[in-house]
Amino acid sequence: MSIIKLLPDSVANQIAAGEVVQRPSSVVKELLENSIDSEAKTIKLIVKDAGKTLIQVIDDGTGMGKDDLKKCFFRHTTSKIRSSKDLFSLETMGFRGEALSSIASVSHMSIVSNQDSSDSLGFEIKLEGGEEKSLSEVVSSKGTSISVKNLFFNIPARRSFLKSDNVELKHIIDEFHRVALINHEINFIFINNNNELFNLSKSIFKERIVRIFGKSSKQKLIPINEETDIAKISGFVFKPEYSRKSRSTQFFFVNKRFIKNSHLNHAVKTAYEGLIQDNLYPSYFLKINVPLSSIDVNIHPNKTEIKFDNDQSIYAILKSSIKHSLGQFNIVPTIDFDNNINLNTPYSYKNKEASIPKVDYDQAFNPFENLTSPVKLKTKDFNFNNIDDSSDQDQLNNELEFLKTNVFPSFQLKSKYIITKTSSGIIIINQKRAHQRILYENFLKELSNKTNPIQTLLFPIKLDFNSEEIRMLKLIEAPLVHLGFKFNSFGEEGIEISGIHPFLNESYTHELFQDFLKNKDYSSDNATHTLNDLIAKLLAKYSSISSNETINVKLQESLVNDLFACKDPNVSPFGKLIFKLISLEEIIKIF
Ligand code: ADP
Ligand code: MG
Repeated sequence: MSIIKLLPDSVANQIAAGEVVQRPSSVVKELLENSIDSEAKTIKLIVKDAGKTLIQVIDDGTGMGKDDLKKCFFRHTTSKIRSSKDLFSLETMGFRGEALSSIASVSHMSIVSNQDSSDSLGFEIKLEGGEEKSLSEVVSSKGTSISVKNLFFNIPARRSFLKSDNVELKHIIDEFHRVALINHEINFIFINNNNELFNLSKSIFKERIVRIFGKSSKQKLIPINEETDIAKISGFVFKPEYSRKSRSTQFFFVNKRFIKNSHLNHAVKTAYEGLIQDNLYPSYFLKINVPLSSIDVNIHPNKTEIKFDNDQSIYAILKSSIKHSLGQFNIVPTIDFDNNINLNTPYSYKNKEASIPKVDYDQAFNPFENLTSPVKLKTKDFNFNNIDDSSDQDQLNNELEFLKTNVFPSFQLKSKYIITKTSSGIIIINQKRAHQRILYENFLKELSNKTNPIQTLLFPIKLDFNSEEIRMLKLIEAPLVHLGFKFNSFGEEGIEISGIHPFLNESYTHELFQDFLKNKDYSSDNATHTLNDLIAKLLAKYSSISSNETINVKLQESLVNDLFACKDPNVSPFGKLIFKLISLEEIIKIF
C-alpha cells in the first residue's frame, strides 16, 4: 500500500506560511510590497495590538477584478511572472505568488478591491484559514484594502511564540522603515492603535530619511554617488562620529529591494576603518542599482537575500566610493585631491556637491618639538563618537571647551598611560594609540601636500624581495618618495634605501615593508586614498612611541594637546579606543 500522499492545500499553505509569515511584521512587509507592485501612490497601514488583532493595508493601486480576487489567495498564483526566465528580469517586489495564500491560511482575511475608478462598487472576499467564506459586492474606491485579523488563530503554538506588543511593534516599524525609505515617491500613513505614527508625503530620498529618523539626522548625512557599468550607487552614510551601537540604521536597497548582505556590509565597515571604534556600526542608506539580469532574488522565501554576479566588483566600488566621500566631505583621511601627486581614482566622482577640502600644512609640525607653546585645543570638530545620547554629548563638549582654555598637570602610569584631569573628571589616555593617531593624521597631510625632507641614512639599508613582492611594493614607491624616502635601487635584486621619513624608527624599516606585503587589501583596490591610508597607518605604527616608554611632563602635555587637535581623537588608526573619560559622578559612585 502506498504511504505517500499529496498534502491538502490547506496544510501545504500552512507549511509555506512557516517560511513567509514568521510574525506580524512579515505580513506588513508582504502587504506593503503588494501595494507597491500595484503602483499605488498612497499607502495606508493600520495596525492594532502590534498586529496581533489587526493588520490592514489600503492602497490606491490598480486593484483586482472579481476573477482575480477569487484566485489571488491560492498558492503560486501571481500576475507578476509567466515563465522562469522572468525571474531574471524582475521589476516587481513579489513574484513567488505565495504571500497571500500563506497569510490567508493562518488568519481571518478580507480583501476589498476595485479596479475601476469610475465605479464606486468593488468586491469583498472573506477567508478563514485560507477558505473562502463569502464574496460580495461592496462600496469601495479604486485600489485594494486587505485586512488580516487574528493572525495564527489556528496555530496556537505560533501565536504563543509572539513577543510582547512592544517588540512586535518594533519589528513592524523596522519593516515599515525599509519599505517607506526606498519608496519615497509614495505617500505613506501608518496608524498604530488609533495613533498616527507616520504621515510621509512623497519626497526625495534625503527628505524621507530625515522625516523618518528626525531632523537631527540631516547634518549627519554625507552623500554617496558613484556610477560604473557594473553598478550605480547612491544615497547617504552618516558621518563617523554618529556611528551607533546597533545596526538598526543600516540599509541596502538593491534595485529598490531592501536586502541584507554581510559581504557588502563589510565593505562599508572597512571604508570607515580607523574612523570608528570596532564595537560601533556605521549608519548607511544606500541604493545600489544593477542590471536586473545580474542578480538572483529567488534564493530565500522572504526575498531579503540576493546573489550578485559581480559581488567582488560591487564590494570594491562600494568601499571606494564611501571612503572617497568620507575623505571629501568630512573627515580624517583628508586628502587634498588637487595636490595629490599620485591621484589616480578609478571611478568618476563628478556628481559631488561640496567643495574640495584643503589641508593646511603646518611646516613645523613635529608632535614633540612644540614644547613651549601653550596648550591650545582645536576641538571645533571634536565629537565623542561612542556617545549616542545628546545630553551626554553636550556635557562632553563643555568638557572640551574647558580643556581648551586650561592646562592641567598630567602624569604617566606604568610608562603606558597618561592621566590628566578635566573640569569634572579624569581622562586616561593610551599614549601609544594617541601618538599613532597624531602621526597618522600628519602622514595623511604630508601625502597630499608638500614633498618632505629626507633623513639620510649613514648606512643604506638593503632589503631582499622576490619579483612578485617587488611588483607589489612598486605601488608604494612613489608615495614613499613623496614622504621623504630615498631609494638607490628598487628592482629585481631588491631594494636599497638610503633615506627614510624622519619620524620612522630606522630599525623597523624591514618590518614596515613586510607589513605592506601582508596587506593584500590595497593591491585589489588600488584607489589612491586606500593606498595612502594604508601607508599612513603603517608608518604611524612603526614611528610611534611604544607602550612602555617614559616621557617627561612637557612631552605628555604636548601629546595631549596634539591628540585633541586631531580630527578624530577617539580611535587609533587601527580602530582602538584612545582615551576614556571617567566622570566625577562615576568616581563618587565608587565611594
Ligand atoms: P506575488 O506578489 O508574489 O505575486 P502574492 O500572493 O503576494 O504574490 O499576491 C498574489 C497576486 O495578487 C499578485 O500577483 C497580484 O496580482 C494580486 N495582488 C495582491 N495584492 C494586491 C494589491 N494590493 N493590489 C493589486 N493586486 C494585488
Ligand atoms: Mg506579493
